[in-house]
Amino acid sequence: MKRLSLFLALSLALSGSAFAQQKLNVVTTTADLASITQEVGGDRVDVNSIAKGYQDPHFVEPKPSFLLLLRKADLLEVVGLDLEVGWLPPLLDQSRNTKIRPGGAGYLDVSSGVEILDRPTGNVNRSMGDVHAMGNPHYWIDPANAVRIAIQISKKLSALRPNDAPYFAARLETFKKRMNEANKKWTALLAPYRGAKIVTYHNSWPNFVRRYGLNVVGFVEPKPGVPPSPSHTFELINLMKDQKVKAILVEPYFDLKTPQSIAERTGASLLVMYPSVGARPELDDYFKLFDRNINELVKVLR
Ligand SMILES: [Zn+2]
Repeated sequence: MKRLSLFLALSLALSGSAFAQQKLNVVTTTADLASITQEVGGDRVDVNSIAKGYQDPHFVEPKPSFLLLLRKADLLEVVGLDLEVGWLPPLLDQSRNTKIRPGGAGYLDVSSGVEILDRPTGNVNRSMGDVHAMGNPHYWIDPANAVRIAIQISKKLSALRPNDAPYFAARLETFKKRMNEANKKWTALLAPYRGAKIVTYHNSWPNFVRRYGLNVVGFVEPKPGVPPSPSHTFELINLMKDQKVKAILVEPYFDLKTPQSIAERTGASLLVMYPSVGARPELDDYFKLFDRNINELVKVLR
């Protein structure tokens, strides 16, 4: 009897460990991809983002801890379109993890399955430091693209863990439903302001403004990635007065000095808009990020 129970205990322990597969180690370049991966991957994934939501994702300072993350990653997800070109390639080289390199089974560039705006039509031109030479990489700020991102993540996770495919598919469905419901609410909130003219600091919001029918008439940066210049600011102020622009949207990581003085001289409201999950501690998922941004935007457009 004693021997039998020992045998039972042993076999239970063994089968238990066989079922409890290790979680997939997922590393994302941005917190938004991490948030969506968590929604789809649930308790089968361990997700870490390299860039934090309060950082400019074009410019991330490399740290040794990122190498450790990349070294043990099963999957690397990137925004692509050169968003990470300034900092990711050397980290990837030094991580010596071949499966998460472009073309590897553990590499996912989600830009291939989303709607991309500002695609260059002629020759790609990075003159004057334009950091959007491949098309606009801020496409995640749009619920429809968030769903498209989630679909690709679900496919990739399922390819890496076929046994969990039904689990990921069910979670993807839940995410889609929640996003649909939330987007109805956001669309209704912004509906009275269709066509409202705004200015943004960086060209981060083309997908967002198209979704909700807003109209960006200018940028504080003369070109994406190029700091404001006096002549450009002067022209922008005239344009804003002329077009009666109501709001300037600025990401939290840009210097507020120029936008503030533009606001004072034009009467427009200055609003800090958060482009990423985790830009503030309480904005810890995609839904909260949009709730906050849209509620505040409505206040300045009223
Ligand atoms: Zn950008």
